[in-house]
Amino acid sequence: MSTQLKRRLRIPIHYLGLPFREYFFFLFHSFKQVRQPSVGFEALWQGQFPGRQKIPVSLGRHALWYFLEASGLEPGDEVLVAAYNYYVIVRLIVQKRLVPVFVDVEEKTLCLDKSDLARKITSKSRLVVVTHIYGHPADMTAIHSICQERKILLFEDCAHGIGTTHRDRCVGSFGDGALFSFGINKLVSALGGGMLVVQPTYTNLTGIEEKRWNSLSAIVSVMSRALVAYQMKPGVYGWTNELALNVAVYLERWGFDWFRNLLTPMKDNSRYRFSVYHGPGYRNFMTNMLKPQIERLGDQINRRREILKNIEDRLESIVGVELVERDTHGRSNASYFVIRVARPETMARKFLQLGIGCHPHEFLDCSQLRQFSDFSNYCPVAFEADKHVLRLPIYAEMKDEAIAALCSAVAEHIDE
Ligand SMILES: *Cc1c(COP(=O)(O)O)cnc(C)c1O
Repeated sequence: MSTQLKRRLRIPIHYLGLPFREYFFFLFHSFKQVRQPSVGFEALWQGQFPGRQKIPVSLGRHALWYFLEASGLEPGDEVLVAAYNYYVIVRLIVQKRLVPVFVDVEEKTLCLDKSDLARKITSKSRLVVVTHIYGHPADMTAIHSICQERKILLFEDCAHGIGTTHRDRCVGSFGDGALFSFGINKLVSALGGGMLVVQPTYTNLTGIEEKRWNSLSAIVSVMSRALVAYQMKPGVYGWTNELALNVAVYLERWGFDWFRNLLTPMKDNSRYRFSVYHGPGYRNFMTNMLKPQIERLGDQINRRREILKNIEDRLESIVGVELVERDTHGRSNASYFVIRVARPETMARKFLQLGIGCHPHEFLDCSQLRQFSDFSNYCPVAFEADKHVLRLPIYAEMKDEAIAALCSAVAEHIDE
């Protein structure tokens, strides 16, 4: 076991599994000026979100922004949102001059807790934003009926949840609106881009982004994303990742932080402000890139679930490792793998030295962030999750050797 650990392991945290041709054929098309981004987009989703509009957008977060604009909320209205979350979601709510009300998450799934939700609803509540975090389905039946009863809008953050189901129905089809992300860290990726799924009663949203095709910066951005995504390939990762990180840190010292942000995108950045003009814009080549990935998504998810089961069977008996439930409210897409440990940072430091990608504070208890201190609200489960959750590698091409090495590393370093 320990000889295996002496060698650098080179296990990326995530790998898109795209064959070379799927990058380069489509990237070639990114040079072309395309005026009609929605060609063929609708057809990608055959029957998945019945009766909803599916609108391509620059980034997943744009979908929430447009939904907030279209849903007629007034400054001061309350938006209930899971405390354990991606801070950008809360930033958008605050930037729209709405009031985020932090709701705690479930111990088991880390998704929005329905009892805490019911407790925090007031006469000013207008919207609930549910995140299917780590691809775990939230309890949509219960949450949906609370919203119906209290006449509150419901929005689903499905950035992690493509292919996740609740009662055999895809998440994203329960709320008034939903966002999906096709960023490089997501399960299905177009190197950027996202989607707004929304009820047909929301008009004037089709083609909302068609006016803004700025070529050069869009191409540079897409190319650098392609580079970052490609270097996550197992076998390439070992040396490129270190090189890339060094370059990124060097550039950051000279004031260029875009590359660093690409490599570690989820860090809390209190200076971040959303702009509708940010992001390379959705382009037609992205639809071409998504198509084969969506066709193989079912197989991809089955394979990932098998691998996760295998890993969890091995980790189950290790004292000090707590597994997180995924399927409490449906079937997870296994897009992420997280465990709870006492000291995730210590473990992460060791793992990065060994060559195992991992992330200790990828998502945060936003109710405790300085930038949202006006809205702070103690949520005990989110507070604990922030301190103890560690994200570990999972991808469909993970070899038995890598699985065994990962599990040995967890066993070996759990007590440090
Ligand atoms: C990635 C992500 C988003 C937004 O995706 P972008 O495409 O980067 O805007 C939203 N919510 C969660 C939880 C995410 O992880």
